[in-house]
Amino acid sequence: QPPLTNLQTRDVESLIHPYTPLHKLKSTGTLIMQRGEGVHVFDTQGRGYIEGMSGLWCAGLGFGDEEMIEAATEQLRTLPYYHIFSAKSIEPAIELAEKLKEIAPVPISKVFFTSSGSEANDTQVKLAWYMNNARGRPNKKKIISRIKAYHGVTVMSASLTGLPGNHNGWDLPVDRVLHTDCPHFYRFGAEGESEAEFTARMAKSLRELIEREGPDTIAAMIAEPVMGAGGVIVPPKGYFEAIQAVLDEHDIILISDEVITGFGRTGNWWGSQTLNMKPKTISTAKQLTSAYAPLGAVMVPEDIYQSYVDHSAQLGTFGHGFTYGGHPLGCALGVKAIEIYQKRDIIGHVRKLMPLFESRMKRLAEHPLVGEARYCGFVGGAELVADKKTRRPFDPKQGVGPQTAKLIENNGAVLRAIGDTIAICPPMIIREDELNELFDRFEKGLNEAEAWVSKEGLR
Ligand code: PLP
Repeated sequence: QPPLTNLQTRDVESLIHPYTPLHKLKSTGTLIMQRGEGVHVFDTQGRGYIEGMSGLWCAGLGFGDEEMIEAATEQLRTLPYYHIFSAKSIEPAIELAEKLKEIAPVPISKVFFTSSGSEANDTQVKLAWYMNNARGRPNKKKIISRIKAYHGVTVMSASLTGLPGNHNGWDLPVDRVLHTDCPHFYRFGAEGESEAEFTARMAKSLRELIEREGPDTIAAMIAEPVMGAGGVIVPPKGYFEAIQAVLDEHDIILISDEVITGFGRTGNWWGSQTLNMKPKTISTAKQLTSAYAPLGAVMVPEDIYQSYVDHSAQLGTFGHGFTYGGHPLGCALGVKAIEIYQKRDIIGHVRKLMPLFESRMKRLAEHPLVGEARYCGFVGGAELVADKKTRRPFDPKQGVGPQTAKLIENNGAVLRAIGDTIAICPPMIIREDELNELFDRFEKGLNEAEAWVSKEGLR
């Protein structure tokens, strides 16, 4: 480990880094990025990397898009800040809400803006409670989520998240939150069970949970079409149809968390279209502005919105909102990002490269370290295992995933280790040659990881 640079020292002396082993930081330091161009980022030492994760699954248009920069500059000159509280408004927020309604996968009549995905999901819970209070059902408040789901880090969205790392140490989840099964067939399918049987079991288990708790106590279920931060988990065919039937029977609404899967990531505008979901409401963020500014949104249909109108009439006001929800910069960039997705046919481009993405993922599946290579559209994950045949995982303490991500990084590609799954989620603008190069670097890192695992006898 080389000594820390001056900037790295200043960094560890002053910052708290999310999702980082803080106890090791003084010796490892951080990788400090300085600039980005297209699908590449460059660190302060001048080394370049293909950003194979679009940052945090968000920079779909890559870095340095001139049209986005111009839109931001123009908005900052015109009106750098205003809000939409207390019956005020701004044109970029109106325009973005209209655009979202146009492209929504289900009938949507109103949009509520937040600054992030966590706030969007937090808002979803409050809105579900508010709706049921308005409808005279004050006990219908519990929210169902899933094991391995990721919905954010506020107290409520972290509670919805179904990952131990977001609960342990934080006294979470809070009550009113229930977790049902994770639809990961490779990991949780039983011996000899078919995918169809597995899906039926998921639906049965959900039904049992609802009946045990009482349908009259449950407001909503929240689900990512494809689980992202839980390890890129693509549910089996028919999963959402089966789940949705159970929810509909019990008057429980489905919330689609499209924070990662929105805006073309899965080859359609929305992951719910790819996965055949019919959500009642939708959360989005990330590629909403292609990460050029922070912004999140909750989209709701007219009947649900009317319940807010009724209830706020009783209470005197609608008591919820964030200072930066509907920030002019975020909204102007959201409008521009959608315009770019449309006029440059970014989703068509993703679709064109999806067969290549798929074939490269399938090739990864053949690698001796990889147990399963999962993908949907332009997002994938390769799960590393100690034994391909038995699917036996490595001991998490061996840190095989993080070490593999580091070796891939040394080969000039930024990917993300989620435990022992290496996630890949490139900017949607990536060219064919760049995508091949990204997978080549991924494979080089994997080969080095395989050599390291063998040398250290980690199997
Ligand atoms: N929901 C999903 C599906 C996410 O992937 C994320 C972030 O990765 C969030 C919510 C939280 O979004 P944010 O980090 O903007 O609060």
